[in-house]
Amino acid sequence: MTDNLHLTAPSCSDDHDPAALQADVARQRIFDAVAPQGAAGASERLNLLQALDRVLAEDIVAAIDVPPYVNSAMDGYALHAHDLPDGGMRELRIAGASFAGHPFNGVCGSGECVRIMTGAVMPSGADTVIPKEHAECVDATAIRIDGRTRAGENVRAAGEDIRRGQTVLTGGRRITSADLGLIASLGIAQVAVKRRLRVAVFSTGDELCAVGASLQPGQIHDSNRYTLHGLLTRQHCEVSDLGVVRDDPSALRGALQSAAREHDVVITSGGVSVGEADLVRQVLGELGDIAFWKVAIKPGRPLIFGHLGRAVFFGLPGNPVAVMVTFSQFVQPALQRLAGETAEPPLILRAVSGSALKKRAGRTEYQRGILTQDRDGKLVVCKTGEQGSGMLSSMSRANCFIVMPSEQTRVEPGTEVMVQPFASWM
Ligand code: AMP
Ligand code: MG
Repeated sequence: MTDNLHLTAPSCSDDHDPAALQADVARQRIFDAVAPQGAAGASERLNLLQALDRVLAEDIVAAIDVPPYVNSAMDGYALHAHDLPDGGMRELRIAGASFAGHPFNGVCGSGECVRIMTGAVMPSGADTVIPKEHAECVDATAIRIDGRTRAGENVRAAGEDIRRGQTVLTGGRRITSADLGLIASLGIAQVAVKRRLRVAVFSTGDELCAVGASLQPGQIHDSNRYTLHGLLTRQHCEVSDLGVVRDDPSALRGALQSAAREHDVVITSGGVSVGEADLVRQVLGELGDIAFWKVAIKPGRPLIFGHLGRAVFFGLPGNPVAVMVTFSQFVQPALQRLAGETAEPPLILRAVSGSALKKRAGRTEYQRGILTQDRDGKLVVCKTGEQGSGMLSSMSRANCFIVMPSEQTRVEPGTEVMVQPFASWM
C-alpha cells in the first residue's frame, strides 16, 4: 500500500492547522446557525402526484380506518369457524358470492359458505376464509373442506394497517413513493409541503474553461458546477447555475451580492485557500459574515461557512473531491435542516478494511472506498487507489467514504473501519 501523505506534493490541504475546527464542531456550528424556513408563508399545497420528494409541512392524520372494512385476504370461501371440521371432511352449501366492490348482502348461516374474492367484504356471519385451493368442489352449490384452516385465518381486520385518528406521517418528512400511496389510501388528495430551497451555485477561477469549449494552455474544464448541480438536484433544490466568476474582487462582489438577494443558499467552489488569487474569503468578509474558515478534515480543509444577507453561504474548496466531501459532510445536512426536513444522521457502518490506510493525527479523513460483501455477508471495504483531492475519478469509482477519525493514524488490513455509504446524498 502506498502512503499518499508522502507521495502527494505538499500543499495547503496537507498542512496541520490548529485553527481549523474539528469536523463535528463545524457541523454543530452550522446546525445552530441555519434555521428551518419560517412556518406559514414557506409552504404550499400540492396535488398528491406533485408531492414526491417534497417535505411535508403538516402531519397526516387518518380520518378513516385502512382497510375500511373487514375483508378477505384470499380468493376462497368465507364461513364461520364453528363449521370447520375437527377431523375428516365437511360439506358446506354455497349461499352466494362476495366480490371486491360487490359485497354479499345476505348472512352466511350455519353449514353455509360464501364464495369470496381477495379484498371483498366479509359477509356477516363469517369470520374465516378457506383458500380456494383447499376446497373441493362438490357441484355448483356445495364444497367440501378439511380441517387445515384455523379460525380467523385469511381475514384482514378493519384498521389493521392504519387506525382512524392515527398520525400516519409527521411534518418534516420527505415524501417517498410509499408515502404517496399511504396518503392516497387515506383519501387525501392534496398535502401542504415546504417550499423548495433556492440555491445558487457558481465556480471561481481564471483557469476554468466552459464545457464544450476547447482548452487553452493552462485551462481546465469547470467540473465542480456539474457535480454540484447533480448533488443539489438530488437534494430537491431549485438550482440556479450562475456560471464561472473570474478571480477578480469586483466580479466576485457583484456575483455574491446578486446571488444572495434571490436565494436561500449560495454555494461557490474555489478561491477559499491561501493563494494570491483566493479572494472569496476577503470578499465575503466585506459583504457578509464568516462564521468559520477551515475544518480539520482531508480533503476539504479550507471550507468557509457564513451568511450573505439572508442567504446561507458555503465557500467550498476548488479541488473536485474536496467539493464532494464538504458537500456531503456539511452542506447536505444544512440543506436538510433549512428545508425543514427531520433527517436521520447518515448511516455509518463498520466494515473490515481490505487496505492498509495511513493518515496524520488531528484531522478526520474521508478516503474513497468500495464497499462489498464477502461470501459470508461480511462487509469489506477497499480504498479506491490514489486519494488525491483533485482525482474525481476516485469519487466516481467509490461507493462510500472510509471515515478515519481525527486521532487515528493507521489501519491494518483485516481490522475494522467506519464507512459512510454514498447512497443517501449522491
Ligand atoms: P483553488 O482553491 O481555487 O485554488 O482551487 C484548487 C484546485 O481546484 C485547483 O487545482 C483548481 O484548478 C481546481 N478547481 C477550482 N475550481 C474548479 C472547478 N470549478 N472545476 C474543476 N477544478 C477546479
Ligand atoms: Mg482558484
